[in-house]
Amino acid sequence: MSDVRVRFAPSPTGSLHVGSARTALYNFLFARHQGGTMVLRIEDTDLKRSTGEHDASIMRDLEWLGLQADEGPDVGGAFGPYRQSERAGLYESGVQQLVAGGWAYPCFCPQEKLDELKAIQLARGDMPKYDGCCLRMSADQVQARLAAGEEAAIRFRVPAGDVSFDDLIHGPITFSSEVIGDFIIKRTDGGFAYNFAVVIDDAGMQITHVIRGEDHITNTARQLMLLAALGKPAPRYGHHSLILAPDGSKLSKRHGATSIGDFRGLGYLPAALVNFLALLSWHPGDEREKFTLGQLVEEFDMDRVSKSPAIFDVQKLNWLNGLYIRELGAGELYHLMEPYLADAGMTFAPIQREVVAEAVQANLVVLGDAPRFADVFLEDVDPAACLYADTLLALGADVLLQLARHALEELPGEYVSTKEAKAVLRELMEAAKGEGLKGKSIYQPLRVALSGRDQGPELFYLVAGLGKGKILSRLASASAFVATHPGTCAS
Ligand code: GLU
Repeated sequence: MSDVRVRFAPSPTGSLHVGSARTALYNFLFARHQGGTMVLRIEDTDLKRSTGEHDASIMRDLEWLGLQADEGPDVGGAFGPYRQSERAGLYESGVQQLVAGGWAYPCFCPQEKLDELKAIQLARGDMPKYDGCCLRMSADQVQARLAAGEEAAIRFRVPAGDVSFDDLIHGPITFSSEVIGDFIIKRTDGGFAYNFAVVIDDAGMQITHVIRGEDHITNTARQLMLLAALGKPAPRYGHHSLILAPDGSKLSKRHGATSIGDFRGLGYLPAALVNFLALLSWHPGDEREKFTLGQLVEEFDMDRVSKSPAIFDVQKLNWLNGLYIRELGAGELYHLMEPYLADAGMTFAPIQREVVAEAVQANLVVLGDAPRFADVFLEDVDPAACLYADTLLALGADVLLQLARHALEELPGEYVSTKEAKAVLRELMEAAKGEGLKGKSIYQPLRVALSGRDQGPELFYLVAGLGKGKILSRLASASAFVATHPGTCAS
């Protein structure tokens, strides 16, 4: 184990967004690559918007992605509690330490006064910032007002000078404290400000590296000032770019799925999502696009994380998902498809399942596509369709259908293996060739007779998965159709 300690710190005010999942992933990869520790910290200080349900769903989604933390509310650890709502005592001690050290002071300014100040500063074209009014009170005045029970917030006294840090992704960044007014660390309602709680937690949990989105860069200046005032060492910071939609706007619901739960529901595999999210801002610099989580852990390197915006290209995600789907064994694929089939009211006999899974495997982009392709095994053939007429009334189809009935009657059971199906089809092929038929004029009428479609799974899957009863009755209907129909739709 190395000393590296990172944290993923979601606020449970919604389900896990792909952007946050990528933050979790980069933290996970960074920690695992170095043999370090990843902490999950639930930042639930916004009590109105945080819910236990979101808290649980975030943990479930992380687990689904394979990004379990080493310490956190669910697994425990030596630096808990891991929910901010349970850490008020630690924040209060931090506030007391800063007040005692002269780094923080009570502020009695009512909100209306602060709003007024802001309006004046904006009207003057100045950056709004607290004017330090309450800092100018004498200690006696402060004591008297507190003793009288007046409500006060606690403000941090921002020191003069620049704050600089060397970002792991952006390089050196400097902020002038001129633009930062004394900010509130404890509100009048007793709640603690985000920047303050984060600092107490990062210091208390001995976090060595903070990897998070670029939207937190400006917070870093405040957090560094607080750490210095508390006498705590600063972690290294790395701010990755945010995920944008292809049109350059912020990725939102109007672009489709955005939460991990949405993608799981559509039938994306966790391995494909992880692969895709990793590559949004990172690449080892060669031709490869497919990486397992293990490979990512091995190769991930902060130096190769780009600061350019990460464009969410769903086509690439689809392509990767297809690759991972094609790697699944038939049994596993069926198991993953099953909820989607069940939702569409489709059930298959255990003996059919692997054949059905294999038959549709090449066509699936997401698992949710399964019913659309698997229904070929269940849907009735519609003999009225022109395709049926046009294909079956072609020259030689009647002979073929007879040969097929003859051959397929020999199927050794209701459902056969794909190997047995291939063997029967080979014999049928030979017999058809003997009648002067070839290639497409054998496969196409047979496919249409068996499925009513001219596309779909390979014939041997239909033969293996449809069931002998259905096969023979469909061939019989096709032959009857040929015998009783005068011409094609075209004619
Ligand atoms: N809770 C913050 C968020 O969800 C993250 C804070 C941090 O990483 O410092 O945006």
